[in-house]
Amino acid sequence: MILFIHRKDLRTQDLAAFERIAGLGEQGLHVFIADPALLTSIRKDEHSGVHFLSQVRRLQELYIQAGRNLHILYGDPAEIVDSILGQYPVSELVVGRDYTPYALARDHKLEKKAEQHGVPFTSLPDQTLIDLEDFHAFAGRKEPYKVFTPFYRKWKEYMELFFRPPGSVLVSDLRTAELEPELSDRFRLPFVLEDYPVAEEPSIRLADFIEDDLHNYEQGRDQYGSDGTSRISGILNTGALSIRTVYQRVMGIPEGEAWRRQLAWRDFYLYQSVFDPDFYHYEQRYDLSLLDDKLFSAWANAETGIPVIDAAMTQLNETGQLPNRLRMVTAMFLTKNLLCPFPLGEAYFRLKLADYDNAPNRGGWLWSSSLGFDAAPYFRIMNPVNQSEKFDPLGTYIRRWLPQLADVEGREIHRPRPHAIVDLKASRERAIGVYKEILRSR
Ligand code: FAD
Repeated sequence: MILFIHRKDLRTQDLAAFERIAGLGEQGLHVFIADPALLTSIRKDEHSGVHFLSQVRRLQELYIQAGRNLHILYGDPAEIVDSILGQYPVSELVVGRDYTPYALARDHKLEKKAEQHGVPFTSLPDQTLIDLEDFHAFAGRKEPYKVFTPFYRKWKEYMELFFRPPGSVLVSDLRTAELEPELSDRFRLPFVLEDYPVAEEPSIRLADFIEDDLHNYEQGRDQYGSDGTSRISGILNTGALSIRTVYQRVMGIPEGEAWRRQLAWRDFYLYQSVFDPDFYHYEQRYDLSLLDDKLFSAWANAETGIPVIDAAMTQLNETGQLPNRLRMVTAMFLTKNLLCPFPLGEAYFRLKLADYDNAPNRGGWLWSSSLGFDAAPYFRIMNPVNQSEKFDPLGTYIRRWLPQLADVEGREIHRPRPHAIVDLKASRERAIGVYKEILRSR
């Protein structure tokens, strides 16, 4: 029997693990573990937790429709695995590979537990389009890429040669086992999963995007007043659709190039998280004592008095959505104009973003705060008013999210309100000086 644990692969087709289990020809015990260390009591009711659990519910429905067993458990993964391996004749533990520091430590424990029970542990790369380790060897560089453009050139070369099309094994092709009621009871969820909505069918959103917006993506992606992007990041990050399936849908479409490039950005940040030893430690290299959290709550609560910032934070707080351009604008504003340390914003996005994912979120914050690899130069600070005028000239977005400003006429809609908590020009000058100091402290 194979023990398989679903993690960031909440789907029932095109899983590397399913191909392996089918190849072994054995029955599988399929579980999903809600890990309290990740799904904290706060997070489970915030957009990131709700989105994730909605995908878990959908996974549960897919198993039911296929007539197969999925066991949803709650607790420390190592303890659960220990219990299962103690009671079942498991011949292999199979998981999809995960790369965050927490995930690596967790999987190290799982591997040790498996070893104690004499069970092999197999962790299969399944989150990215390129196999990260294989790509690194293919690129043949001593130092990993730090800059996206050369990475992307090599990425395209690799994809032409080695793109692995979606696998064909469905969960209905596999035999799945029951779990002892005693184990299900011992590791029962402390909340009601049925309280969460079942996530929508992910391929519909992708199909709509390809039909309606893909051709205009390059121009439309920054026009955040009109939703020209796919909004599939949450689907990709929970693995509700496999990245291979998504890529295959847009492969070879000439006007799909700009969008495929964004899929490469996703791989790029995961690649950095694996190969840049500083990726999770940049903040420790600098003296951040010149920064503080005094203005953080005004930012988080959409009370800065800068319309586009408050509109963006309102959208984020209410829906968990935020267009990429406004992630950059709000992140720069927090770290530069308000001089708050980036980990505060990173942690806030972790709770609030429906599509939260560790590597792209950290990558985005490192870039915006000018403290990471390939970062925005510290003296190039986006001015939120100029950004708003440029990418949403009519102020459609601000009017939508701040209805109290809906009647403000013309360009005035973009301007700071009289109660704005900072002067944009003065705070920009100050930030340049402070970040110069910080970067020198390295
Ligand atoms: P589209 O524009 O349709 O792009 C398609 C896909 O490409 C996305 O779904 C995503 O998987 C990938 N992609 C697009 N832009 C980027 C990018 N800049 N970096 C990495 N991958 C990208 N993305 C997350 O998935 N989770 C996060 O937690 C996250 N946090 C971010 C925080 C900050 C401060 C910044 C600046 C960016 C962050 N991003 C994050 C990246 C990006 O903003 C989102 O991936 C994008 O807005 C998702 O919208 P979409 O699906 O409509 O993307």
